[in-house]
Amino acid sequence: MVKGDYYEVLGVSRDAGDDQIKSAYRKLALKFHPDRNPGDNAAEESFKEAAEAYAVLRDAEKRRIYDRFGHEGLEGRGFQGFSGFEDIFSNFGDIFEGFFGFGSGRSGRSRGRQGNSLRYDLELTLEEAFTGKEEEITFHRLEACDTCDGSGVAPGSEPQTCATCQGRGQVVRSQGFFQVSSTCPSCHGQGQIIMDPCDACRGGGKVRIKRNVTVKIPPGVDTGSQLRLRGEGEPGDYGGPSGDLFTVIHVKDHRFFTREGDALMCEIPISFVQAALGDTINIPLIGEKDEHPLDIRKGTQPGHVIKVSGKGMPHLQGNHRRGDLYIQVQVRIPEKLTQEQRELLEAFAETDGKKPSGKKKSKKNRWKRLVK
Ligand SMILES: [Zn+2]
Ligand SMILES: [Zn+2]
Repeated sequence: MVKGDYYEVLGVSRDAGDDQIKSAYRKLALKFHPDRNPGDNAAEESFKEAAEAYAVLRDAEKRRIYDRFGHEGLEGRGFQGFSGFEDIFSNFGDIFEGFFGFGSGRSGRSRGRQGNSLRYDLELTLEEAFTGKEEEITFHRLEACDTCDGSGVAPGSEPQTCATCQGRGQVVRSQGFFQVSSTCPSCHGQGQIIMDPCDACRGGGKVRIKRNVTVKIPPGVDTGSQLRLRGEGEPGDYGGPSGDLFTVIHVKDHRFFTREGDALMCEIPISFVQAALGDTINIPLIGEKDEHPLDIRKGTQPGHVIKVSGKGMPHLQGNHRRGDLYIQVQVRIPEKLTQEQRELLEAFAETDGKKPSGKKKSKKNRWKRLVK
């Protein structure tokens, strides 16, 4: 971008005095101030341009160089202009004092403050986390008061400039050699005092209202997943953007499945006979109506894990892929036997050459045996 002539930018003559330059800059800064032109890039550029022109022309040394050698002369001496607003405000913060109703200094420096973000906790079943769903949620948030348009002032009346600080929002007191400025105690930095507050919001400018929004929950969410609805939080101050609404997901424990990322795990009990002989059993699957036939191989050991590919939870990225299902086999040993079962098992043991004695060994003997 070609830099404009600094005198033209400020609209002053080449022989303008310091006061003229300062006052020209104040006018432009006020006109193009970011708080008054939120999101307006052209205004932003003009604001920066004016600040740069002022930075040079207010400084006798820089102005002399500029008058003789132009922009190149300044660049040759390392003058860079400003990197951004912070830079401008930290250099000329003083010139903005009293410009804006809400005082000088920090609050005048930044753009309007963003509103608070809100959090909504939503509990889902594992099945709901599997399929995803649309959920209408109801919450309360602050909004600008309709009655007073957010000003906090009763309709028909006007806020009064704070007498303590003359609208600056700050008071300055001397402390030895120093001047210390602090937030005005009368108006709390607002620069204005509301004598006749709005009834609807008690002068706060905001009212709490109930709001419903529909949250679209994608398949595959897990505990801790956060869904962000931009701008559904509370409104900002001084024209700042609204905050966001975060829906935080909690997935309830399932009676059958546990989850680890996209993987699902479950345990199935089988009898020791099924483990020894093999069998086919039906297991329920998440998100599917029909049960899934699962082959138990003969000779399956307790704790054995069977993997069923692609029957876990869906990937949150929505690529139609699913995690896997891991089924751990629990082999049940019968605690009670009928006479007939006992005889069959004893007969089985004989075929194995390991017939139990039938007598219970004393605890003492058993320990001796174990430590040998
Ligand atoms: Zn109100
Ligand atoms: Zn005040």
